Amino acid sequence: MNNLIGVDIGGTNVDIGVVSEDYKVLEYTKFKTNKASVSAMLGDICNTIIPLAKQYGCEIIGIGSPGRTVDNRRILRAGNIPYDNTPVADIIESRTGKRVYLDNDASCALYGEKFAGAGRDVSNMIVITIGTGIGGGIMIDRKTYHGTNNRAGELGHFIMDINGRACSCGLHGCFEQYASVKAFVILARKAAVENKGSLLFEMAQGKPENIGGRLPFRAMYLGCEISKKVIDEYIYYLACGINSLAKIFQPDLFVLTGGLINEGSIITDLLSPRLLEGVNVKISPLNGKAGLIGAALIKKERESYCLSCEKV
Ligand SMILES: [Zn+2]
Repeated sequence: MNNLIGVDIGGTNVDIGVVSEDYKVLEYTKFKTNKASVSAMLGDICNTIIPLAKQYGCEIIGIGSPGRTVDNRRILRAGNIPYDNTPVADIIESRTGKRVYLDNDASCALYGEKFAGAGRDVSNMIVITIGTGIGGGIMIDRKTYHGTNNRAGELGHFIMDINGRACSCGLHGCFEQYASVKAFVILARKAAVENKGSLLFEMAQGKPENIGGRLPFRAMYLGCEISKKVIDEYIYYLACGINSLAKIFQPDLFVLTGGLINEGSIITDLLSPRLLEGVNVKISPLNGKAGLIGAALIKKERESYCLSCEKV
């Protein structure tokens, strides 16, 4: 049985794992993303991969990264990492001597769910990755929809409010501005400052900058009404976005992955009453490793319906 290496490059951490052919993560490690220099970051990745590949006999490496990929080999640019049309696949291939496959990180999360996660038995699925921003992947009849120039699936950037908040993409009122973890944290910090008597403000020790994605949930469980309101407002935005996507795609299933989703079933419990009839939402069962497992499976994904493609 051939083991595979999956690399999930994020704006904060790089996750690397050895994945078996039956999709089990045999070994897992992570380290901080070196954002000062792409060359140093790729060096860190290669230094981790080389001994793992030797130990587990891996010949295939899959890389998932934020940013726009070109020809499945290069990354033009990304919001968080200073790529500049960087030949990521070639660099890692030459340093490790292994075959390297490259794809967008949100697409990798889709592949992970498709083969190993919640989407194994469905035809049509949308994966929404909720982190600092919002990304996603669209599967139609078990094929991934990439769009022209590989640019489809930007699920964070359809417009919820044409007069809304300015977005990094240049538009206003994008879904990401309301339903990302960053948007949630902004909402919570604002509510804490406006309600200095709240448990949330107290638990943040009077410093709103201490509020991350988890604290409002912890405060809510302890009875904080302000945190409950913040979470309800956030869930309202998230549900609006999911319902809009459902109107367009009507998938069998939406799968949610990413930071806030680690809160677990409370998210779906709060979402359910706000979803349109027939909209089915599940939390990723892959414990935050959908992107990593999916990266290891890029080759399998491409071969699954691209048997005649030379440039897989
Ligand atoms: Zn946008």
